[in-house]
Amino acid sequence: MSGETGVITSPANQTIKDIRALEMRKRRKETGLFMAEGLRTVIEAMEMGAHLEHVVYLTTLSARPDIKKVRDYCISCGGRPLEVTQAVLEKLSHKDNPQAVIGVFRQALKTLNDVKPGKCWVALEEVRDPGNLGTIIRTIDGVGASGVILIGNCCDPYSVEAVRATMGSLFCVPIVTASAEDFIAWSKSWPGLMVGTTLQDSVDYRSVEYKQPLLLVMGNEQAGLTDPMRTACHSIVRLPMNGRADSLNLSIATGVMLYRMLEN
Ligand code: SAM
Repeated sequence: MSGETGVITSPANQTIKDIRALEMRKRRKETGLFMAEGLRTVIEAMEMGAHLEHVVYLTTLSARPDIKKVRDYCISCGGRPLEVTQAVLEKLSHKDNPQAVIGVFRQALKTLNDVKPGKCWVALEEVRDPGNLGTIIRTIDGVGASGVILIGNCCDPYSVEAVRATMGSLFCVPIVTASAEDFIAWSKSWPGLMVGTTLQDSVDYRSVEYKQPLLLVMGNEQAGLTDPMRTACHSIVRLPMNGRADSLNLSIATGVMLYRMLEN
C-alpha cells in the first residue's frame, strides 16, 4: 500500500482506496490483510498482539490518549497510522454511523500442524454464512474452547461480516484451514474423542461421555456433514428436535454442543 503523511481528506487517496478494496475476498487473499472496525476491537486486538498494519482514526480524536496508544502500537508493528476526515471514514466504514477508528490487520491463519490437542477444537465443514462463522468464533472464545478448523470451501473468517460477528474474539481464537482429505487423514491420529453432529443415525447428545481432548465436527448449513466426515467420527450425536423445525441453526447447535461437552 502506498504512503503519505498528514491528514487524509480525500476518499480518492490511494491508501484509502487500497483499504476499501479489502472488502473483496480476492484483495484480502492477495494482501493477507483485513479490516476490523471500532476502537474497542482495535484495543483488544492490540492487547492480543495482532499485527496492526494501519490504524485509521478521525482527525478530531488525535489528542486522545487511547488513540495515541494504538497509533504508537501501529508504529511499533512497522505499520502506518492514518489520520482522516469524517468523509474519508464514511467511505471506509460499513455502518451508517461510522466508527471513528478502523484497524487494518494482518491475517493469521494456521495449519493442522499448529493444532495442539486442548480442551475442544471445533471443525466446520464448508460453513458458508459469515454471520454463523463469526458467532461460532465468539462462542468458542466464550466457552473457553481451543480454536476452529475450517474444512474445505468455507466463507472467509476475515470478511467484514464475519469479523463483526466475532465481536473481537477473532483475535484470540486460533483459526486453522484444511482440505477435507487432509483433515480426515490428520483426524485419524486425534488422541481423544471426535464427535460429529447430525440428525440421522445418531444418538442423543446427552448420552455420550465427552472425554477431552475433544474434536467437534459440524456440517454445512444446507447439506450437513458429508459421508466421509461422518465415517471419520467416533460418535455421531443429535440435539433432539421436539417441535416443527427439522434442524437448528448451525451456530446455535455449535453453542449447545460446546456447553454440554465442556460443562465438567
Ligand atoms: N439439512 C441439514 C442436515 O440434514 O444435516 C441441516 C444442516 S444444519 C442447518 C447445519 C449443521 O448444524 C448440521 O450439519 C449439524 O452439524 C448442526 N445441527 C443442526 N441441528 C442439529 C441437530 N438437531 N442435531 C445435531 N446437529 C445439528
